[in-house]
Amino acid sequence: MRIDSFSAPTMATWQLTRDCNLACLHCCTDSAPGRALPHELSRERALSLAREIVAAGVPYAMIVGGEPTLVPHFAEVCRILSDGGVWLKVETNGMDFDPAALKGLQVRSVQISLDGATQGVFARQRPGGSLEKAVASCRAVVAAGLPLEITFAPTRLNIQEAPAVIGLALDLKAFRFNTGKLMRVGTAAKLWERLEPTDAQYADFRALLDRRKGELAGRLELCYEPFSIDEEIRGRGLEPSGTLLILPDGRVKVAAPLPYVCADLSRTSFLEAWDAYRKAWSDPRVLNAAERLAADPGLSAKANAWFSLDSLSHDLPAVV
Ligand code: SF4
Repeated sequence: MRIDSFSAPTMATWQLTRDCNLACLHCCTDSAPGRALPHELSRERALSLAREIVAAGVPYAMIVGGEPTLVPHFAEVCRILSDGGVWLKVETNGMDFDPAALKGLQVRSVQISLDGATQGVFARQRPGGSLEKAVASCRAVVAAGLPLEITFAPTRLNIQEAPAVIGLALDLKAFRFNTGKLMRVGTAAKLWERLEPTDAQYADFRALLDRRKGELAGRLELCYEPFSIDEEIRGRGLEPSGTLLILPDGRVKVAAPLPYVCADLSRTSFLEAWDAYRKAWSDPRVLNAAERLAADPGLSAKANAWFSLDSLSHDLPAVV
């Protein structure tokens, strides 16, 4: 496998917390107010982990949540990573985001979710959310000289506003618009019947993206391929990514849509976790589970169950 030749991950995706100031219907991490995991990493361990990521030479880190800015040591983690030469992408819902927290840091982008172009639709999908606040955060990011990305999670509730959200992203001077099929993970999986767009809606949405991609070239990059988990897995074959996905309590996942955990950074070092990740991807049980997922993306509904590979003596597909 390609990752066997890497001495360290090419990217770390770090979920700082499960806590959030919104409770979105489509959330793939099961985040919501007060939902922090019982044993999220302490400030001390989070800062030492950031130093380990730097020492390992990881070039790029995505800081995500939940809402990562709710974590008291969010800015310190970003500072350590950036000072050590790691480029940052920060994902926020923009409800209470102050770009000053990232002042002077190496920021590749700040990503803000716009799941509607009207307050009614936005708040139906993001209960308690304010489109006005999200838009204000977008403007503040651009005014601070930081590159802005917009993400849009299509559901049956908001997909009709996709053309307007693309227009809004353009107005806000975002450089990229990220989207793709809704992931059947977390809260979204629980509300799947209510949220999943119809095939006809998806066909219209994809045609819109295909049409606008060319029109907007050079102004706004539309990123939507691979369009779904199964397309992604088929495209990569069973070649795992070079990304280490770190959960808020330090556990490390084999892959976002699979429920397996291969290491625990509350007890091991970053590079030990990287070794465990590489070993996991040579485990026939993991390869078998990934094949099953490519054939049936609905299996990702249990991706947040988090089974430790060490604790499973039986075949993983039976667990999926
Ligand atoms: S989708 Fe984002 S903003 Fe919404 S609950 Fe999940 S983590 Fe929070």
